[in-house]
Amino acid sequence: MPKYIFVTGGVVSSVGKGTVAASIGKILSVRGLGVGFIKIDPYVNVDAGTLNPFSHGEVFVTDDGGETDLDLGWYERFLDITTTKECNITTGQIYSEVIAKERRGDYLGQCVQIVPHVTDEIKRRIRKVGASGVDVVVVEVGGTVGDIESQPFLEAVRQMRLEEGYENTVFVHVALVLTLKATGEFKTKALQHSVNAMRSIGIQPDLIVARSDKPIDEPTRRKIALFGTLPEEAVFSSYDVECVYSVPLVLEGQGMGDYIVRRLKLAVGEPDWSEWRRTVGLYMGAEGFVRIAVCGKYTQLVDSYVSVKEALQHAGVNLGVRAEIDWIGTEKFEEDPGSIDTLSQYDGVLVPGGFGKRGTEGMIECIRYSRVNDIPFLGICFGLQLSVVEFARNVCGLRDANSTELNPSTPYPVIDLLPEQRGVGRLGGTMRLGSLPIVIREGTLAHRLYRRTEIRQRHRHRYEVNRSFWQLLQEKGLVFSGFSPDGERIEVIENPANYFFLATQYHPEYLSRPNRPEPAYLGFVRAALERRGQTQRQPTGWVTYK
Ligand code: GLN
Repeated sequence: MPKYIFVTGGVVSSVGKGTVAASIGKILSVRGLGVGFIKIDPYVNVDAGTLNPFSHGEVFVTDDGGETDLDLGWYERFLDITTTKECNITTGQIYSEVIAKERRGDYLGQCVQIVPHVTDEIKRRIRKVGASGVDVVVVEVGGTVGDIESQPFLEAVRQMRLEEGYENTVFVHVALVLTLKATGEFKTKALQHSVNAMRSIGIQPDLIVARSDKPIDEPTRRKIALFGTLPEEAVFSSYDVECVYSVPLVLEGQGMGDYIVRRLKLAVGEPDWSEWRRTVGLYMGAEGFVRIAVCGKYTQLVDSYVSVKEALQHAGVNLGVRAEIDWIGTEKFEEDPGSIDTLSQYDGVLVPGGFGKRGTEGMIECIRYSRVNDIPFLGICFGLQLSVVEFARNVCGLRDANSTELNPSTPYPVIDLLPEQRGVGRLGGTMRLGSLPIVIREGTLAHRLYRRTEIRQRHRHRYEVNRSFWQLLQEKGLVFSGFSPDGERIEVIENPANYFFLATQYHPEYLSRPNRPEPAYLGFVRAALERRGQTQRQPTGWVTYK
């Protein structure tokens, strides 16, 4: 029978629940347990695919094509697991299912209610992950206690305590402890209120994780324990750290692993942290840096591209340096064309995924600048499409070439809708999504990076390189180095006239792990580092694709 660990949040959102949930999973997995995850998102959207990354952060794509919450990315990076769309539950999914059942007549004669019908559907989905062969399921309830939207979910997990039993369920409450700037004093009142809010809905937390900028002191820990009705050893301090991957070690250092193991009566071995410590050591030991410009649209919020950021960092630390990333909104290059020269300070330029017209002329200008000045360049998805537009305009001489996503009446639609997308009216969950096989052509940069001819990567797009222009683009020197197995879809392009100019239609960042950087990112960062003239450092070597 699986055990369930429910992680809730208090005081403010974005308190780091995802990292704490992932850390708890890591603490258990190093003890040899199989860990599954669920992220509950109380919004009414069915999935994250229709959300703006500017407000909710990146859409994380799973192997099975789920467009999910970015916290699944943390679970994958921390535990090196593959999540599925079932690991992300939303209000939209729950209600669609309950309403569909009602229309089918499954509840005939009954009044369909939040309790028990909606809560039953929530529990059913949580238990489905529990039945997938794991020992423990970490369930992160998004939002903050007190939110109207979270209530049915908190009620469902409250019921699960009753049904699964005390020894099989643990409630972890993560809440912010404020620090007064002037005196450095810790203020726990808001945390106390959020614990009270939990109690008022019938949940007594078993563990409290106090989030703060510095480690909390002993009097503060005692106070939280007293007001939270907990032993002091059940209060943990999760403070700001330089390297996010050290959070599991911070919590383990305070005895969290042993506490949870005892509380859930788990039969486990000694934890083996060796590999994880080695990874964290890479971060701590990284000297020097490589400067990368990420030129996109949703640059005000770093979480909009969190997997890109992590993938660059994984590549960097495995080469012995930190990636110093500047997030550049490309509209600025449209308003002030001369400012494009600022890109010359960077060792590498990356144009990430994106949708819609805003800032695209600026992105195309970034691509042109990188190509002409031979700055190492990596394009991801939209970045590939705009690289083709740039090449068509400036090398093939097709003035006004564009993607039909951006200009439906362009005379040269070098990027056009995928054929199967024609006539697709509904925008939710209908893109070309998830993990698909890709054939890599031998003798190309892509092949030198991946060192194999077949890979799998995750996708999320509606548009592609238009076949009518393949021949011209190739004649002018663009190389297509990755294809779908049927040869119909272009997956990787490169420009051999440049030192490193590569773009992928897929999103390699989703597969990057702290101890196993993704080859396209690794190659890009390595090229950037070489440009910086730091080749005398001993790189750890190309990592083989897994
Ligand atoms: N908007 C482009 C498309 O739909 C690119 C998508 C992306 O970058 N993920 O194909």
